[in-house]
Amino acid sequence: MSRPERVPKPGGTSESRPETKDGPVVGIVPAGGSGERLGARRPKAFVVLAGRPMLDWSLDVLAKACDRVVVAVPEGDVDGPDRVAGGLSRSESVRNAVAAAPEASVFVVHDAARPLVTLELVQRCVDALGDGLQGAIAAAPVTDTIKQAEPSGRVVGTLHRGSLWAAQTPQVFQADSLRRALKADAGTLAAASDDASLVEAAGGGVEVVESRVENFKVTTPLDLRMAEAVLAERC
Ligand code: C5P
Repeated sequence: MSRPERVPKPGGTSESRPETKDGPVVGIVPAGGSGERLGARRPKAFVVLAGRPMLDWSLDVLAKACDRVVVAVPEGDVDGPDRVAGGLSRSESVRNAVAAAPEASVFVVHDAARPLVTLELVQRCVDALGDGLQGAIAAAPVTDTIKQAEPSGRVVGTLHRGSLWAAQTPQVFQADSLRRALKADAGTLAAASDDASLVEAAGGGVEVVESRVENFKVTTPLDLRMAEAVLAERC
């Protein structure tokens, strides 16, 4: 499927865009996490990064690529249209946001915790979602050698690095495939660390779209400082 290129609007407003022949593209941003590992007092998505809430960096980009963006926020922070209450797990937060967009033909899921995403990467993922494919996900080739070890630390295997990818977001899906995958039971949803794994488990074909390590997830205070440095370089 080749989608017409979406021309960014100056300022990145979230005005609705004309529908493509394939139907609306809806952005889903899970932003309901607590930020515990960041040592922050507020939810991670609202921690200030280079002068503004971390969430806003991703919203700027998604607003240019999507017809509409639904954000799952912590329950007490639901404060307007296209904001829904997050769930106990990341997947539940995604499911709640997906339920608020019955019109979607394609979903672009992107974590608020990856503020360095670029419009170019989102567009490559959307463009990669060809016929017969249920998902196209940003991923970086693994550069470390990956060991499997027992809880004791004893190494039991070394994985072949050439076929390993570190999955990131954006993850783009045919809307019905993601809706079906999110019908998994609560235990499966809680254990899933990304949406593609649920789509894969439901039998959907997913492909990786090569991304850069620079699109890393902000988890620790060190990540926050590195993200500030990258944003300072971009300005
Ligand atoms: O915790 P982790 O860094 O893996 O979270 C990834 C993304 O999922 C973050 O943007 C976070 O805000 C979101 N999340 C959520 N609801 C939860 C847990 C995490 O929306 N219950």
